[in-house]
Amino acid sequence: MTDDSILNLRGITKAYGDVQTLAGIDLELRPGEALGLIGHNGAGKTTMMKIILGLIRPSSGQINVFGHNPAGRAHGDVARRLGFLPEAVNFPGAMTGLEVLKFYARLKGIDVSQCPGRLAAVGLGDAARKRVKAYSKGMRQRLGLAQALLGEPELLLLDEPTTGLDPDFTRTFYDLVDERRATGAAIILSSHALAELEPHVDRLLVLQNGRCVAEGDMAALRAQTGLPVRIRVSGGDGSMREELAALTDIQTNRINGRTVEFICAPERKMELIELVSRTQGVEDLQIELPNLDRIYSHYSNGEDRT
Ligand code: ATP
Repeated sequence: MTDDSILNLRGITKAYGDVQTLAGIDLELRPGEALGLIGHNGAGKTTMMKIILGLIRPSSGQINVFGHNPAGRAHGDVARRLGFLPEAVNFPGAMTGLEVLKFYARLKGIDVSQCPGRLAAVGLGDAARKRVKAYSKGMRQRLGLAQALLGEPELLLLDEPTTGLDPDFTRTFYDLVDERRATGAAIILSSHALAELEPHVDRLLVLQNGRCVAEGDMAALRAQTGLPVRIRVSGGDGSMREELAALTDIQTNRINGRTVEFICAPERKMELIELVSRTQGVEDLQIELPNLDRIYSHYSNGEDRT
């Protein structure tokens, strides 16, 4: 564990009776790092967050949040430095958005005068005095985010946060999270919306049936999966295709009259690019590295290897 680590998990397991929900999870997070937590329904993502929050205790293993056990005597101090947006936010319908936020501000010992500004930041300025029962699902989610961001948390846990958000607010949501991260907060974001998650995290942890099947940044996961690279070339003369035909293990797809797609193993990428760059008449070249969707399906079902 490094000195500046915000979170450290070592060999965390959690069992409910015979059901092993988490098995041997190791994780370290430092200030300013954002981790994407991905996995199928029931993989153990929420359980992991609950353990970090100190809401449940692990069956075995060690956990340190800001150097303390979050379910131990320092629970209150740890909780004040955390922000959490649960998967399903459920606030009392009879309270207004402002009342809800003030309630949470008081719990965290935060000056309630900042609450109206917090609501405006999540686009609820005009709805601050409306009762929560009149809020749409997306509005409740926004209120949940305002609550999670109260008190400038140093560790922010967001459990499937963008479900129910419209595309405009999804962008605002990620802007707010990126801002927090830029000030040094560590972030854990669980999501099934992989394409939108990818640009906002430094690392990913892939859970499958409670086990970590992969952990690292996109480059490390790409290297580990060995998924092929697609290179699309527009223009070029016939000699390029002849030369490429002589190379083994490179699949060629004709997209249209001017564009050909080559699919190759990552280690052949440079060889292919050099060949293309020596070819007369090439007008455009696009390189598509495996995205998070393809990486995830590789781990989840071993598919999408082409
Ligand atoms: P989702 O993507 O559907 O939200 P998840 O990855 O967050 O799933 P968890 O909610 O952590 O999954 O659940 C992991 C497993 O642990 C599931 O099989 C679930 O049924 C089980 N589980 C969670 N809480 C309990 C509990 N209190 N008692 C018994 N089993 C539980």
